[in-house]
Amino acid sequence: MSHKYVYLFSEGNKDMRELLGGKGANLAEMTKAGMPVPQGFTVSTEACTQYYKDGRQINDEIQAEIYEYLGKMEEICGKKFADPENPLLVSVRSGARASMPGMMDTILNLGLNDVVVEGLAKFTNNPRFAYDSYRRFIQMFSDVVMELSKKRFEEIIDQKKAEKGVKLDTELDTEDMKDLVNRFKAFYKEEKGEDFPTDPKVQLMEAVKAVFRSWDNPRANVYRRMNEIPYDWGTAVNVQAMVFGNSGDKSGTGVAFTRNPATGEKALFGEYLINAQGEDVVAGVRTPSPISQLQQDMPEVYAQFAEIAGRLEKHYKDMQDMEFTIENGKLYMLQTRNGKRTAAAALKIAVDLVDEGMIDEEEAVLRVEPKQLDALLHPQFDAEAVKKAKVIGKGLAASPGAACGKVVFSAEDAKEWHERGEKVVLVRLETSPEDIEGMVVAEGILTVRGGMTSHAAVVARGMGTCCVSGCGEIVVDYEKKQFTLGGLTIKEGDYISIDGSTGNIYAQAIPTVAASISGDFGRFMGWADKYRKLEVWTNADTPRDAKQGRSFGAQGIGLCRTEHMFFEETRIKAMREMIVADNTEDRKKALDKIMPYQQGDFEALYEAMEGCPVTIRFLDPPLHEFLPTKEEDIKEIADELGITVARLHEVIASLHEFNPMMGHRGCRLAVSYPEIAEMQTTAVINAAINVTKKGQYKITPHIMIPLVGEVKELKFVKDVVVAIADKIIKESGIDMKYEVGTMIEIPRAALTADEIATEAEFFSFGTNDLTQMTFGFSRDDAGKFLDYYYENKIYESDPFAHIDQKGVGKLVKMAAELGRKTRPDIHLGICGEHGGDPTSVEFCHNVGLNYVSCSPFRVPIARLAAAQAAIKEKRAKA
Ligand code: ADP
Ligand code: MG
Ligand code: MG
Repeated sequence: MSHKYVYLFSEGNKDMRELLGGKGANLAEMTKAGMPVPQGFTVSTEACTQYYKDGRQINDEIQAEIYEYLGKMEEICGKKFADPENPLLVSVRSGARASMPGMMDTILNLGLNDVVVEGLAKFTNNPRFAYDSYRRFIQMFSDVVMELSKKRFEEIIDQKKAEKGVKLDTELDTEDMKDLVNRFKAFYKEEKGEDFPTDPKVQLMEAVKAVFRSWDNPRANVYRRMNEIPYDWGTAVNVQAMVFGNSGDKSGTGVAFTRNPATGEKALFGEYLINAQGEDVVAGVRTPSPISQLQQDMPEVYAQFAEIAGRLEKHYKDMQDMEFTIENGKLYMLQTRNGKRTAAAALKIAVDLVDEGMIDEEEAVLRVEPKQLDALLHPQFDAEAVKKAKVIGKGLAASPGAACGKVVFSAEDAKEWHERGEKVVLVRLETSPEDIEGMVVAEGILTVRGGMTSHAAVVARGMGTCCVSGCGEIVVDYEKKQFTLGGLTIKEGDYISIDGSTGNIYAQAIPTVAASISGDFGRFMGWADKYRKLEVWTNADTPRDAKQGRSFGAQGIGLCRTEHMFFEETRIKAMREMIVADNTEDRKKALDKIMPYQQGDFEALYEAMEGCPVTIRFLDPPLHEFLPTKEEDIKEIADELGITVARLHEVIASLHEFNPMMGHRGCRLAVSYPEIAEMQTTAVINAAINVTKKGQYKITPHIMIPLVGEVKELKFVKDVVVAIADKIIKESGIDMKYEVGTMIEIPRAALTADEIATEAEFFSFGTNDLTQMTFGFSRDDAGKFLDYYYENKIYESDPFAHIDQKGVGKLVKMAAELGRKTRPDIHLGICGEHGGDPTSVEFCHNVGLNYVSCSPFRVPIARLAAAQAAIKEKRAKA
């Protein structure tokens, strides 16, 4: 038998999402549960993959199967496709494995042409509805399948409304709709040079193709990269019998959640529009009514809907996001899925579901996406400042958080300004999927139209970006790049602040304050800690960072970059004196000046970390980074140092390197100038002794030698460290242990890790440099060409953001094994950017590292990711 590519809704179930996509699998599941679902069939994701294999063609075999299932569908529905007597019309809906809101496009009312529309008008006795459906179909088909501009169609409608002197679509009558159909068709012909396709079967196949094609559109590719959805998954296509929410005042369409997706509150939450179809609710064209209004408008429908919603939530054991349509008083379910939610809602729902006995703690831990926590960790408005600030307007609190930035009016401007280093708030009439790249970089999003389930709101919540939507009082002038609100005119570049938790809008910059982990968040993180095996440390260069990391639960410092301490105003001079010194004597003198500062910093770090391990990395960057580059600075600094400008130029020239990344840096500095390592050792050990003497904490210093590639160079530097450290400890008379370890960040170190471990007491994988050196491209320059690699699907994600498990990961795994072979109790961690990236954390768990170390704000994310990795592993074994 040939391969099966098409499934009736009655043939599938919720566990078939890989094949049927999320939407298809859930439509099947609802069908199985006897819920009112318009019937149809799903063309599988395998058909999508096949389409690409066949050079973007649907092959004959699959086409034949689609038509065969259309026949089966006609039987089930008791109507014939596009039959002028009583037409079966269909929607063509995309549905990938993971939901990709707004990324793929849906076509409604497919099957209409000049003959069928007359039949529909007669059969329903509602010509206005028939022609409204027809003009919508032409619009959607032209946009999605033929890639004509959506905007032009809207302009034609606006023109028509202006001619009639009306405001709302609902004020257009049958004749107007007919006229729109004609204008649309004329426009189509003008643009395409041919008539709008009238054969319903051709319409259907073209639509299916368009969905497959849309899997590869730029918006989808951006969304996938952001969400780590693999390109080769493909999308399924659902062909479903149409039900009509636009067939009169007993009809409508809506979207609802079983719990509030912004707060997590347990109550049906949603919106609907009477006499409307499909995307009308989310497109933000008309402002919808709250779902509670439905209880008054159509109590029976509401009761049935509430019952189904409750059943779905119990069945899926999670908050559901549902789409429904009412046709002449009869309810139809069009979609259900686990709803997207804010981080605050995700926590509350996870904790509530545990308390309601629906799921256990482990399951709850798996329910919250680690990346999402970010939204809870970032600043909120300073309460005092907000009280004093003047609210100039209010919209819907669509996605919580606080945002402050300069106003821009287009996604392109948002991107451009962001690249210049500006913080922006994107102000739009409404957003659409084309705006995605601008929305990603904006601090916040403010829209004039649209409800809680508008595109802007849904996408912003997904990204954890603050959003205020539907502020109708705003009058935007895109041309002049300004808007008015509350009697004020705000121009592009002016500061505004918006509060996504209250909906308030302010015409000023408002300072923000840090968040804390308490309440549901604290309880939830407690569960995460219970199940994880990896320790989570933080990268911290200052006591402030250390305290932040500690308050977010860090169990140590995995990386303290000492050079950052040298840049401070008071110390940089001594550092420069050290660099320009032409003999050891003078170098030592300069270093002596720096030593007390370093020691003080280390003491503060030890105190902030309350006795947890603190790993101090010795000087790493090339020395030229500490010297000026601008002529006027060179003059000033030469004066300051008491040397001639010519001499300073000489030093700068002598430090010039063609490739500083691979130059005189890391432990190479300590090999050339051991006195630097001596000074840093003295500072570390003295600080530890002082803090230990105070009696509260017993400190074990961790000294980390960077950029080692050969065991002998490590031994050389270690000998310098040990000589000084042992001497100071002996003199102090207290009993103190210390460890000397290294970073594994040069491929040669990974390859010879067994030898390196003879000297190193711990390894910390510096995966930033390790990635640079393994790929052979620099982190600072790769951005310029990586886009071409994404476009051509050579790399799917940035190897500096998500660890490259195949290559870099192989080195990590190998080095870990070699290290343990030499020194079974060797302590292994990671301190590159990857330490806070959830997929990379999972990788670290799987290769058996002891800890990950990441920036303070990613500590809770790493804690959760580590717990999820442990639970997943346990479940996979069971
Ligand atoms: P998205 O994935 O963007 O939500 P959908 O495939 O869910 O796209 O379609 C968008 C909307 O179109 C649905 O919410 C629903 O209102 C409408 N729709 C889709 N299929 C049908 C149908 N068979 N009958 C009536 N309305 C439909
Ligand atoms: Mg859509
Ligand atoms: Mg949908």
